[in-house]
Amino acid sequence: MKKIYMDNNATTAVKPEVLEAMLPYFCEQFGNPSSVHWAGRMVGGAIEKAREQVARLFNCSAAEVIFNSCGSEGDNHAIKGTADALKHKGNHIITTSVEHPAVLETCEALEKDGFEVTYLKVDHNGMLDLAELEAAITDKTILISVMWANNETGNIFPIEEIGEIAKKHKVRFHTDAVQAAGKIAIDVRKVNVDMVVISGHKIGAPKGIGAMYLRRGTKISRFMHGGHQERNRRAGTHNVPSIVGLGAACDIALKNMDKDYAYVRHLRDKLEAGILSTISDVKLNGHPDANLRLPNTLNVSFNYIEGESLLLFFDMKGIAASSGSACTSGSLEPSHVMGAMGVDIVLAHSSTRFSLSADNTDEEIDYILQELPPIVQKLREMSPLYGRDNPTPLSCDECRMVTKACG
Ligand SMILES: *Cc1c(COP(=O)(O)O)cnc(C)c1O
Repeated sequence: MKKIYMDNNATTAVKPEVLEAMLPYFCEQFGNPSSVHWAGRMVGGAIEKAREQVARLFNCSAAEVIFNSCGSEGDNHAIKGTADALKHKGNHIITTSVEHPAVLETCEALEKDGFEVTYLKVDHNGMLDLAELEAAITDKTILISVMWANNETGNIFPIEEIGEIAKKHKVRFHTDAVQAAGKIAIDVRKVNVDMVVISGHKIGAPKGIGAMYLRRGTKISRFMHGGHQERNRRAGTHNVPSIVGLGAACDIALKNMDKDYAYVRHLRDKLEAGILSTISDVKLNGHPDANLRLPNTLNVSFNYIEGESLLLFFDMKGIAASSGSACTSGSLEPSHVMGAMGVDIVLAHSSTRFSLSADNTDEEIDYILQELPPIVQKLREMSPLYGRDNPTPLSCDECRMVTKACG
């Protein structure tokens, strides 16, 4: 069976060059970088080299990079660390309703601790109203947190403009750049931003490693207590192989960025145009202007079909994609991102995300465009919604039935 992987916003394969760079740091160069002896010194150099490589992706200085365990940790650290460090100044945080759970749930946890959070709405294209953002700022606002690009739709937010608003009002600005990293430039010299979070496994490094850009002079509370690693900001013996891997992945991403952008965008645009022109009742989720979306992401709703059943049919054809609903996991809640965009609940349930990488090929796109229409047709014929004049959302039982019917 063919195996086509189009779920790169969920995770990516480790790049062979990344793995190769990591290998010496398991058995040979195994020292603890905090040790003074030769074994420690050998490894300390590798970490500082990786820090330089990550710094080049951010275009910051190496001293402004903190290694951590993942994107979720970076988001938690940026937000909770700021809340704690600046609580004497205010208790108000501004974020958006379409953030990753690592941001949303951190903000919700802070609300329980007495912080106030404004969750900015988005329009039907998934975009923010910057006037609304600016109007939400009060003298109690200590943090603005807006993602660089959205993981579900690929929408790119106007980080430069938001940075200017933050600067004008002297409010700290954090951005979750986990999806933007490696796909578009995340240059902290070009935009005014104080904290930028990235994750290794979304850019060809292993899972369980991440980094944060922390602008020089930004006060933030420690995330983990213990040893003095990472200039006292994040305790814990360094994950040396993964840090080396993250450095290598950043290096490769930076070198290939323009080339990969053009290639992946060509594939995505071909898939997008093919789906929209050959299948009826399909809706694009995200900004219609492809320049305002990541080059690799396509999110579409196939009306009348439950997303999970589509994924099961895809899987039988070797195609790995993801959906905005999670019937099979027991939750009938459609994605909060689709909800925030005001996507009709039936369409939200049928949303499907293809997230490509430079490993995908034209032949794979052709294969999907050939396999997809009959699958959609078959599922529509099975759907209790298809052909009804006023489709109502699937009931729990209907949803299970459609899903089970897929075997
Ligand atoms: C994947 C992802 C995260 C979480 O990163 P982990 O390393 O898996 O913790 C955070 N934000 C966005 C936008 C993501 O896509």
